[in-house]
Amino acid sequence: MENQEQSITRGYREPFPHFDTEAIHTGQEPEQWSSLAVVPPISLSTTFKQHSPGEHAGFEYSRSGNPTRNCLEKAVAALDGAKYCLAFASGLAATLNIAHLLKAGDEIICTSDVYGGTNRYFRRIATEMGLKVKFVDCSNLKCLEAAITPETKLVWIETPTNPTLTVIDIQGCADIVHKHPGVLMAVDNTFMSAYFQRPLALGADICMYSATKYMNGHTDVVMGLISVNCDKLYERLKFLQNALGAIPSPFDCYLCNRGLKTLSLRMKQHFRNALAVALYLEKDPRVDKVIFPGLPSHPQYELIKRQCTGVSGMITFYIKGNLEHAKIFLKTVKVFSLAESLGGYESLAEHPAIMTHASVPEEDRAVLNINDCLIRLSVGLEDTEDLIADLDQALSAAHPGLQNSVKLDDLLKQLK
Ligand SMILES: *Cc1c(COP(=O)(O)O)cnc(C)c1O
Repeated sequence: MENQEQSITRGYREPFPHFDTEAIHTGQEPEQWSSLAVVPPISLSTTFKQHSPGEHAGFEYSRSGNPTRNCLEKAVAALDGAKYCLAFASGLAATLNIAHLLKAGDEIICTSDVYGGTNRYFRRIATEMGLKVKFVDCSNLKCLEAAITPETKLVWIETPTNPTLTVIDIQGCADIVHKHPGVLMAVDNTFMSAYFQRPLALGADICMYSATKYMNGHTDVVMGLISVNCDKLYERLKFLQNALGAIPSPFDCYLCNRGLKTLSLRMKQHFRNALAVALYLEKDPRVDKVIFPGLPSHPQYELIKRQCTGVSGMITFYIKGNLEHAKIFLKTVKVFSLAESLGGYESLAEHPAIMTHASVPEEDRAVLNINDCLIRLSVGLEDTEDLIADLDQALSAAHPGLQNSVKLDDLLKQLK
């Protein structure tokens, strides 16, 4: 008989074929090095010897191209089912490079519920440079369709959104966007990673990551990635990567390339742990509401199964009570660290209204329901029972006298 986990996790897209083999081997060929190194060396040299002026082995100057970065870019392209990938100094540096595809007077349509730094960059910097920016709820395809004007040159979505985990229909958006020739559609794929979601296969032109999160996965690198299929788009972005200069270091490229080797293993465990945590929190009287796209109660549970191969470790919930209850909870968790960021092997908890989304204007936060009781979890790779026991003791500190009706042992047995 099917257990609870099997029935809830049935019906997702099939995993992408050869994913692990590509993660481990693509771009990593030992034959590219005279030493036949199996693990790509960290190539720190900023310059490369030329045989005669303009005649070289593919590398000139490390901003323009670097052997270690090259290995990473090839591996990520394969994992995104893309022809090309480019690496940048941070997720926001990747966003900056994409914005530089546009010129003054062009318009960006950005989905309303995006990463705080993306919101800040578009609202406070891109507009100063002459770009127009319109925030639109792209989870409503009719709103997107109505918002596109002749000035629109880029549609930017993030799915699931941050922090309210609304799922946006990538294929649906792409079909609308591509009725308008010359408009690019970019997807911030940070929350899902290449293992769970492949935006280019769903019609997007640009797949972008903050590799700082799941792609590197070890909370020790800040980096951005962009994958594309179109030759012209790649040439322009490659030009911008060199001309703007927001490139990652060879050491960071080495670490991120290493992180990719365990991407699928990590993502499967993030999913397993997050599902258990979400099921537990959903039964908890100390919690008002749980948002996790892998729960049947999520309004886009069917959409996420249609568009993804699984769900990552991001959970948002509203603790019962007020800001004080949220603060007690966040100060009491022990296995979860109270910290910004997400997607690493360790579990994190944070308060979006005060922390990651403080730069989003208050009235916008109100519309998005980013209130004092909202808590965002990045569920890591620890033992499931330790994570749930930690959440339980922190909820008890916030709400003495109330307890979860679910016995942890029973939940774990169901999920076995
Ligand atoms: C962190 C993050 C970014 C920004 O990336 P950095 O690497 O911090 O510059 C962009 N989008 C999302 C969804 C993020 O979580």
